[in-house]
Amino acid sequence: MSPLGREIAALIRETGPIGIDRYMALCLGHPVHGYYRTRDPLGARGDFTTAPEISQMFGELIGAWAAWVHRAMGAPAPLLLAELGPGRGTLMADALRALASAAPGTRIAPHLVETSEVLRQAQAQRLAGTGATWHDSPDTLPDGPAIILANEFFDCLPVRQFVRTAAGWHERLVGLGEDAGLAFGLSPEPVAGIAADMPTGAVVSVPGPALALVRGLARRVCAQGGVLLLVDYGHVRPGYGDTLQALADHAFADPLAAPGEADLTCHVDFAALGLAAREAGAAVHGPVDQADFLTGLGLHERAGRLKLRADATQADAIDAAVARLTDRRPEGMGCLFKVMAIAAPGLGPLPGLAPA
Ligand code: SAH
Repeated sequence: MSPLGREIAALIRETGPIGIDRYMALCLGHPVHGYYRTRDPLGARGDFTTAPEISQMFGELIGAWAAWVHRAMGAPAPLLLAELGPGRGTLMADALRALASAAPGTRIAPHLVETSEVLRQAQAQRLAGTGATWHDSPDTLPDGPAIILANEFFDCLPVRQFVRTAAGWHERLVGLGEDAGLAFGLSPEPVAGIAADMPTGAVVSVPGPALALVRGLARRVCAQGGVLLLVDYGHVRPGYGDTLQALADHAFADPLAAPGEADLTCHVDFAALGLAAREAGAAVHGPVDQADFLTGLGLHERAGRLKLRADATQADAIDAAVARLTDRRPEGMGCLFKVMAIAAPGLGPLPGLAPA
């Protein structure tokens, strides 16, 4: 077992089984052993690859999108461009470059919300000279109309899970198995008010921190103007099923096998987040498939322009990136990933996103 696994087992022996939310928070954010605290997980040598790491076109198209939104907001200065969980800073760097050419002379204030020291360092290197500012949480972002980006951020926020049995809904917990290793179990007492009736065995995930964040940011854009652009894998209809997943070395892993050493995520419930944003008064645009969003923003035209200056190997790489980002097979990025914007009412329609 990993060092964090031993620590979690000791905690469970002392205080009893823990919720999936606590388990996720420890695995990802434990100050010493947390997955994001100890490494740069991205890229070929890491555990997973994200859209901005696949191609510069992803961040450039989002930069062009941000330039459009900024104009639609009446071009407030400076342009407050924030990103939640910016990874290596690649999306922000590519977006800033595209913004500089789409809106020359615009003063831009980049703000990055990041808890990982390792990734902050990578971001600082990548964004040297841009005037970027770092934050531990979105609460300290400066006031004003803001364009807030989040790619593969909401999937790593902790969820609680509940399982339907003949007796009702029970919280799914992490406890100790017969061999003293970590094992999934259920709370003995049923819990009320989880979801409408569903078949025995159904699992629902309740994304408490994601819902709270969306509510807060929805209220913010309503009061101060702006938009949150959320890109992630997930589902658009309310549904059930266990999507808690671990990824290590580009392959699915057992979520309990090596706490702190694998990425741990859950599919994003766009239906629930969209509803929370609407209830807070914001307008919701989309969600649409990533393939439709990128195609609508001109991915193929941009690829064509890049290929004019590319040699044969580079041209093949550009084609491969376009194919991967817009792969419409059910598990392909173009279909599994959705894009949704949560905006101040009256802003829009927004490029690439069908009207709500
Ligand atoms: N957006 C990037 C990275 C995605 S990985 C990309 O697309 O490549 C998730 C990112 O969120 C990492 O930067 C991670 O360190 C950060 N992160 C995870 N939990 C966080 C939290 N609670 N607060 C702020 N950042 C967090």
